[in-house]
This record gives sequence, structure tokens and C-alpha cells, in this order.
Amino acid sequence: MSAVPGVIVALDGLDPRAAKKLAFSLMPERCRLKVGSELFLHAGPDIIRELRRIGYDVFLDLKFHDIPNTVAAAVRAACALDVQMCTVHAAGGAAMLEAARDAAAGRLAVLAVTVLTSLDDADLMALGQPSARTQVEVLANLAAQCGLCGVVCSPREAEVVRARQGAGLQIVTPGIRRDAARGDQKRTATPHEAARAGADWLVVGRPVTEAAHPPRALEELCDELAQLA
Ligand code: C5P
Repeated sequence: MSAVPGVIVALDGLDPRAAKKLAFSLMPERCRLKVGSELFLHAGPDIIRELRRIGYDVFLDLKFHDIPNTVAAAVRAACALDVQMCTVHAAGGAAMLEAARDAAAGRLAVLAVTVLTSLDDADLMALGQPSARTQVEVLANLAAQCGLCGVVCSPREAEVVRARQGAGLQIVTPGIRRDAARGDQKRTATPHEAARAGADWLVVGRPVTEAAHPPRALEELCDELAQLA
């Protein structure tokens, strides 16, 4: 019997009205909602307040990557918005991660983004960087040492992170695809594979938001995951 991961729907590619409409059509019992830079820049903090009013737990995915003082202030601002999760780039280093952890003071889960799921090993090599797997292992270890709640990585690395870090670190995986429609994502896996690899949360954007019937797409995903229990 394995734990069933939760689902986080990414509200990308939607204007504030469409995002709110989608939020009303889904159910807070079924998913959390993720607000990224696109929606946040269009709608501002009001969209967070609206989603909280509807009853959703909110993941503010602005991927902070700056000097420790600035990131700490941003995390405090996220806490004031009463979101449940936010992201920082693990590559910001130990001092930045610790500053984020201290600023959160347990009020929200700070997640460290390891390597974007849109990058494959060839992209990383072109940047003069090691493979995705190596980087994810190093950055997940750093995040754990700095006392962060969890990491964002592709489902393909979830298994090795779980094996090394145990149950203490939450694993959040975007790049969830059932078919060949990967869009800009490169390190993808199916919901089933991500769950089996030990993900706690699956982030799903376009496969739900661009579905002909988003509530049905979410329901099918949740049903599929429930069968894995
Ligand atoms: O539409 P799709 O399912 O690809 O959406 C994935 C979401 O996860 C996007 O909002 C993207 O910003 C986010 N994300 C990602 N890779 C990461 C961190 C976040 O794709 N490493």
C-alpha cells in the first residue's frame, strides 16, 4: 500500500477571470492551486486572497533567487498572504535557503526548486553543468541540510531523492504527462510513475487547464492516483 500523492493544479496561461472561473469549477478537497509569475503579475496578491476565500490551499511559485535578505523579505510577504507553499531556487545557496527557512518560521512550506523540468542533460551540458540527476541529488541534500520542507524535481529523480532523504523531505514533481504532448517539458513521467517514484505532490498544469473539461480531467487524474493506494 503506497501513499497517494496530492494534486496541485498550476494556473498558468489564464487571465485572472479565467483563473477564478477554473477555481470555482474545481474543488478545494481535490487539489491545491499553484499561482506562478504569469498570473501573479497579471492579478497581483488579490488572486491569492480570492483563492483562499474559495477555500483552496495555495502554492505561490515565484521561485525566489536573490540575496538572502531579499529572499527572506519575499518569504515573509508570502506568509502574510497566507499561502501554504512557496518556492526558492536551491541554487541560491545555503545562506539564502536558511534565510528563507527562518523567514517562514514554520508558517508555510518553503520548497527548493532543484533543476527545471524543461531542461535535459544536453541543455545542462550547454550551460557547463552536470547532469540533472547529479544536480538534483546535490541540491536536495543541501535543501535538507538547510531545513527546508521539500524540493521540486522531475518525477524521474523523485526515487533517488526519496531513497537518500527518506520521508522527511516533501517531493513535489511537475512535468506530469500521460502522452506525447510534452510542450516545453523534457523530463516528464506519467502520474503513475511519479507516484510510484515517491512524489508527495504532483503539479499538473496544461493537462488540466487545457483539457476540454478541466474538472473531469482532474477527477480522472485523482481516480487514477487513488487506484494506486
Ligand atoms: O503545464 P505544466 O503541467 O507543464 O505545468 C508545470 C508547472 O510546474 C508550471 O507552472 C511550471 O512553472 C512549474 N515548474 C516546472 N518545473 C520546475 C518547477 C516548477 O515545470 N522545476
